[in-house]
Amino acid sequence: MIHITYSGNPLDRRAVLRPNEAELRAIFKGGAARIVPVWNMKHAFTATPRAQVLSISMLAAKVNLDTLEPVFLGFSDDVPWFALSLPGADTPPDFGEPAEYRALNEVVTLLPGTEASILAYARAMVIWHDTHRYCGKCGATAKPAEGGHARVCTNDACNHRTFPRTDPAVITLIENGARTHCLLGRQARWPAGMYSVIAGFVEPGESLEETVIRETFEETGVRVTDVRYLASQPWPFPSSIMLGFRARAVSDAISRTDDELEDARWFTRNDLRSFGKPGPYEALRLPNPFSIARFLVNTWLDEG
Ligand SMILES: [Zn+2]
Repeated sequence: MIHITYSGNPLDRRAVLRPNEAELRAIFKGGAARIVPVWNMKHAFTATPRAQVLSISMLAAKVNLDTLEPVFLGFSDDVPWFALSLPGADTPPDFGEPAEYRALNEVVTLLPGTEASILAYARAMVIWHDTHRYCGKCGATAKPAEGGHARVCTNDACNHRTFPRTDPAVITLIENGARTHCLLGRQARWPAGMYSVIAGFVEPGESLEETVIRETFEETGVRVTDVRYLASQPWPFPSSIMLGFRARAVSDAISRTDDELEDARWFTRNDLRSFGKPGPYEALRLPNPFSIARFLVNTWLDEG
């Protein structure tokens, strides 16, 4: 199986423990826990870089443990792992060990895959808590429950319970009928010269295949059929899962109908292989190597 960055989390999530708040609190304080800090949507890294995790003794020296709201991530062998959102608007708390807080996607290509997947999981959970502090039904404060895998409204008349959200988005490599060209586009806000496959969020009341067909037409005017699922990638930027597809065009003419893309073009495999090299495509580049977009492009390149 091909590894896709941010997947392959090695932790046993041990969901059976989540309802037992007292036991999880004891495990958190028990001394063995490895704690993944998240501060301002960033993680702590050593110079190598490797993910820096905290111990309970490092935390206890600085903060009141009873005020913390750790999220239980699971177990690696007998070692429990938790994610923890750290306070501090301008500077992260100092736990006595040098650490640099950086955005995960800036350093992910330098990390072991298992670390990248654990950090992505921690990041997704912390972001969800940060953006769901209040009950969506009555507006009262919502508090963490189930080891951080739910939030419950504190208004006894409401008691609404909500669970971590993951927003599905489709991302599709579209090839022409002869399978000689693929369709790539670029958004104005992307890095200069980068072209990628077509992507968009799934809307309520829509199948994944219908999203692929709708988004491709909205962004490029191209009609597609034969939509096939290939692979997926957790994408906690902030809270998505990317669902990777291949589809075949039944029309070639490009006419952008919304403003999402500033350009869309058909490319041959040799065109793509010449990206960044002297010639007509020297200024163009493919998506980042850790993205499922690049996986979809590479899979297509390998076929011809
Ligand atoms: Zn409520």
